[in-house]
Amino acid sequence: MSRRPLVAGNWKMHLLAAEARQLCEGLRAGRRPPAVDVVVFPSFPLLPVAATALAGSGIACGGQDLSPHPPGAHTGDVAAAQLVDAGAAWALAGHSERRRDHGETDDAVATKVAAACAAGLLPVLCLGERAEERRAGDTLAVLGRQLAAIAEPPPGLVVAYEPVWAIGTGDTATPEQAQQAHAFLRRRFADLAGPRRADSLRILYGGSVKPDNAAELAACPDIDGFLVGGASLDAHSFLSIIQAFA
Ligand code: PEP
Repeated sequence: MSRRPLVAGNWKMHLLAAEARQLCEGLRAGRRPPAVDVVVFPSFPLLPVAATALAGSGIACGGQDLSPHPPGAHTGDVAAAQLVDAGAAWALAGHSERRRDHGETDDAVATKVAAACAAGLLPVLCLGERAEERRAGDTLAVLGRQLAAIAEPPPGLVVAYEPVWAIGTGDTATPEQAQQAHAFLRRRFADLAGPRRADSLRILYGGSVKPDNAAELAACPDIDGFLVGGASLDAHSFLSIIQAFA
């Protein structure tokens, strides 16, 4: 089955409104292959800015996180319905920086995936092993556990494999390492949701993707797109990474 590529940009806690608008203008002005889905994940205050600046461009927006709760007394959190209201169509859940900085557990991440779906958002489940887990030979066990935490994977779920040691370090997984993890995740997903769903599951790779390593990663049979951090803050770099799936 041919899966439609998806390239996502995680802007993390970067940019002010004027910079975000400029980045969006750069993305709108660039050439993009029509067969690739593109989404950007600005920080919460920038969501309406990006959603307005990208309206009609075909580039979607998403939230970098969401509360597992419906709107209510949860100071500092953002509900799924508020993300939708601010222009989001997507939501990340379980990014390693959330797991690290906020102690998010696999169960908490699973609740966020469910909350996103209930509000009509498309969830991207982020998972990946830490350096010490890879050194101990535990990579596949960790990935299997993180994936299996989603007891009932919703339709449209996207998985982003992001080895923690590769995020923001310049230390990209080799195509062989990434392909091995992606193929494992697809097999494991087949156990959980059946082979047909596994065949159509989009699995993104994330971790220091740059214009000069994107093509060899994109050529791997089980890599269906990228989740890009640092390089998504520059329109030219992000557009050239998207071209890897043209
Ligand atoms: C990320 O933030 O998900 C990420 C992969 O970052 P970077 O591309 O900078 O490694």
